[in-house]
Amino acid sequence: MNHKLASLLLALIVCFLSPTTSHSQQTQRKIVAVKAARALDTRTGEMISNAVIIIEGERIKEAGANVAIPANAEVIDLGSKTLLPGLIDCHTHLTFEPNQMGYSSLGVSVPRSALTGAKNARLTLEAGFTTVRNVGANGYADIALRDAISAGDVPGPRIVASGPALGITGGHCDNNLLAPEFNHFDEGVADGVPAVMRKTREVIKYGADVIKICSTGGVLSLGDDPKASQYTLEEMKAIVAEAHRLGRKVAAHAHGGDGIKLAVIAGVDSIEHGTYIDDEAVKLMKERGAYLVPTLYLGDWFLENYQRMGVPAPMAAKAKEVMPAARKNIARAFAQGVPVAFGTDSAVYPHGLNGREFAVYVKLGMTPLQAIQTATIHASKLLGWEDRAGAIEAGKYADLIAVDGDPTKDVTELERVKWVMKGGIAMKK
Ligand SMILES: [Zn+2]
Repeated sequence: MNHKLASLLLALIVCFLSPTTSHSQQTQRKIVAVKAARALDTRTGEMISNAVIIIEGERIKEAGANVAIPANAEVIDLGSKTLLPGLIDCHTHLTFEPNQMGYSSLGVSVPRSALTGAKNARLTLEAGFTTVRNVGANGYADIALRDAISAGDVPGPRIVASGPALGITGGHCDNNLLAPEFNHFDEGVADGVPAVMRKTREVIKYGADVIKICSTGGVLSLGDDPKASQYTLEEMKAIVAEAHRLGRKVAAHAHGGDGIKLAVIAGVDSIEHGTYIDDEAVKLMKERGAYLVPTLYLGDWFLENYQRMGVPAPMAAKAKEVMPAARKNIARAFAQGVPVAFGTDSAVYPHGLNGREFAVYVKLGMTPLQAIQTATIHASKLLGWEDRAGAIEAGKYADLIAVDGDPTKDVTELERVKWVMKGGIAMKK
């Protein structure tokens, strides 16, 4: 070994061993204190005055009223603002856009959709959503986006991602826009018990954190009926057994009452949309602890804007029937105490408006605190992330947001999030 090479190696070894040179070690040791007039305890609804949150690295070390601030801490004083934990949206499609609902979707490549996702991830984070569950994307663009955000390449929320959604041939999660001679199937299509087992394993192989399935027809798809169930009980039982055995939860798109009940009996962890939910379905969901993820604000936006979005006529006709029905049935389910986790289906409307969902829940009977809990403590439970998100508590990620007023009095404050921190780093100032 020549002398130059030896000294270079020595320098490299010193570099790796030195406690002060590693970037990750530096951020781990950094202490930040966030001060604000109030902080919401999302479990009890109590407002904590003179809130101080001590953060070490990416986690909360201590939180409460008038907590002593260490001398070496960097202090962020948010004055009269109210602090909440970062919000969680359990139903997004970051890689899709509202202008891609019909035939225009066929011209969008997977790489293009991943870049669209990077833009929408930033908008969603700046709207106060520090975690999302992304339930359906093409070509594993959501997995790539999740990994790029985790690596720090692009800003965005933490993502629990599904990859392609599983569905039947010709169903809501297939793509039925092309004539038979093109012989096109969506990548998540699988029919029959052996095929759905294999597909579940395949999406997990390529990085899925959660399994998304289509239990009934949908609105923004051609040739299917939202009220009709699609997967059979046997197929869904096979998916759930496989997913749960491999440590993944299952989210089922379901509008019709039969499809909702079959999915819950099969053991899914959440019902997405839940348009025709009835008393029997609510009872089953309460018994089994399955969450309803309503996606309701989209109805307002869609009915105002669909004419300029290039939506094929049969899809628009379904929307006009389904969207108002959902509000009526879901208000009744809220009153009966169905477990609810917050979801928006953002992509049907522009990303970053996710906070508008809260006011709809309040309009349908929730208190503002209950609506906030759907996007914090309940959403974290649905994700299996109770240990890391959903409340401002020691040990959890330092994912925090701040608003001007009191969102337990006026929930629309959450449409105007002023400051966002993710993992101890301020992302919106
Ligand atoms: Zn969706």
